[in-house]
Amino acid sequence: MKMSDYQMERIRNLFSSLKERSAFYKERLKSIDLSEIRTQADFEKLPFTDKDDLRDAYPLGLQAVPDRDVVRIHSSSGTTGTPVIIPYTKKDVEDWGVMFERCYRMAGLKTDDRVQITPGYGLWTAGIGFQYGVEKLGAMAIPMGPGNTDKQLKMMIDLKSTVICATSSYALLLSEEIKKRGIKDVVHLKKGIIGSERWGDKMRRRIADDLGVELYDIYGLTEIYGPGIGISCDYENGIHVWDDYLYFEVIDPLTGKNVPDGQVGELVITTLLKEGAPLLRYRTHDLTSIIPGECPCGSRYPRIDIIAGRTDDMVKVKGVNMFPAQFDEVLSGIPGAESEYQVMIDHLDGRDIVTVFFETLLPEKERAELEKDVVVRIKAAINVTVIPKAVNVGDLPRSEKKTNRIFDNRY
Ligand code: ZN
Repeated sequence: MKMSDYQMERIRNLFSSLKERSAFYKERLKSIDLSEIRTQADFEKLPFTDKDDLRDAYPLGLQAVPDRDVVRIHSSSGTTGTPVIIPYTKKDVEDWGVMFERCYRMAGLKTDDRVQITPGYGLWTAGIGFQYGVEKLGAMAIPMGPGNTDKQLKMMIDLKSTVICATSSYALLLSEEIKKRGIKDVVHLKKGIIGSERWGDKMRRRIADDLGVELYDIYGLTEIYGPGIGISCDYENGIHVWDDYLYFEVIDPLTGKNVPDGQVGELVITTLLKEGAPLLRYRTHDLTSIIPGECPCGSRYPRIDIIAGRTDDMVKVKGVNMFPAQFDEVLSGIPGAESEYQVMIDHLDGRDIVTVFFETLLPEKERAELEKDVVVRIKAAINVTVIPKAVNVGDLPRSEKKTNRIFDNRY
């Protein structure tokens, strides 16, 4: 994506005081004269910032303003080891709210909507971000937090929630409960705002049908404000991102070089206006591509594709790179295969074995054909031969958190 003059100006402005304000970047960029950075090509030579660098700065090493200007911190949940702490100024919180309100407007929310928020409240950014966006918009927030499905459904019905905010796994769980209990008629949901983990078209259609709603993918990460830095529109062809607050790049995760628009790689984000903890070329480890051209919705904001997975999810088997989105795509094109699946990679007798578990509604004696079909289509699309295992719907685990799809048991 071409860097705009506005973005270059913001970056130059950031650079004019970055080393002075941030001990973290003063150290990292000590051999670089930032006043020399004048073009996009110059910019693309600057070092990346990675999550490990942020961890090393624990607890408040990223802070780039005096203590008196920090109004809040958030923390990203490290699955292992030290968390990352991000300080926010009043303006950072406000800017995040503006972006979140913009997301809700793009999804068509109005002041009379009632928004049930199921992401968690606490150190991480999810719940409180959804909440502030609702309040800025002027709609009604129903701050449930995660879990307690009985209570979620009771409030959803009694308060006539019109919008549900959830991870895709939790939205799936709720939609299955609503179907099972036969309460769809007393649920008033119209829209779902779904956290942007990778989810297949089939799962999306199932949630949309079972809940009777339109779905929107919202994107974000704690290191860069939180959720709300982009959302899909009615045309469901990618995620519009707020490029007046952030600069987006897509790189080859192996070489670190920028890839052309349309090509899948790792999303890298630079904050243009953040005060508390500005980040330069932050590697998100999310796989996506920049979608060239304009969206039929008429929005001037550029688009990235729906997140195709994590660079960490990319696995190499028999010399082939694969990531979850490819399995989603193949399985969603096979009648009889449902949206939930798991890929297991094992090393047995000196070779790699890939087993694909997928859910189906077909009775056991009718599954052999379907399994054969899965093998052929995966071979054609990903160039790897798999062992297919059809299982009953509900056999594979659901969770309120993000769902792992590929399990590499080789090491
Ligand atoms: Zn659009």
